Amino acid sequence: MSEKQPRVLVVEDEESFVEALTIGLEREGFIVDVARDGNEALQSFERIQPDLVLLDLMLPTMSGIDVCRLIRTRSNVPVIMVTAKSTEIDTVVGLEIGADDYVTKPYRLRELVARMRAVLRRTPRVEAPLEEGEQIEVFSIKLDILRHEVVVRGEEVRLPLKEFELLQFLMENAGRVVTRDTLIDRVWGSDYVGDGKTLDVHIKRLRNRLEEDPAHPALITTIRGLGYRFESGRERKGS
Ligand code: CA
Repeated sequence: MSEKQPRVLVVEDEESFVEALTIGLEREGFIVDVARDGNEALQSFERIQPDLVLLDLMLPTMSGIDVCRLIRTRSNVPVIMVTAKSTEIDTVVGLEIGADDYVTKPYRLRELVARMRAVLRRTPRVEAPLEEGEQIEVFSIKLDILRHEVVVRGEEVRLPLKEFELLQFLMENAGRVVTRDTLIDRVWGSDYVGDGKTLDVHIKRLRNRLEEDPAHPALITTIRGLGYRFESGRERKGS
């Protein structure tokens, strides 16, 4: 087989559920690892570096929401949240915890697998793990997180702290839409003052520094009504 089997970490505490799910997913070509609670999930996550996480919301000791947030501090791996009631989905979405999709129990295996494949297709694979070099490179933009340096088409550019953090978060999520609320929360948190214009001003400054033609941005694109996306180099190179 030319394509490598995707590895999924299933975080689920209900034994009756785990067994059938594991068998079903393995039959669909996934390599399945199971964690029964949040701590085990985080440890397994570090160890196996899964391609996808299927995360139950209701877990003992640590909620799926907290697990998702912790995973997001270290990775942009696709996460599908599993909830027992559709009303919980609203909570998960409202909290902007960074999950990629949601399913409600009980679900059909076929539906779940379709969603899993869809998020895997949407997620660009980061070629080198971020924690190794602490560097991100997309197109001609290179970010050195430890040194706080940005190199744009071979030239070093100095960025103020917030612009750097904004760029880092966008690049870490290259290829996916990041909502305005998520950006504000990640970069400013409770320090954010103003009516939303602050974010736009920072995006504009970033474009002026990074884009070849800031009037027609090709790197940081606006997704109307949602937020912004840093275009992923992978898609471009392939076209
Ligand atoms: Ca549960």
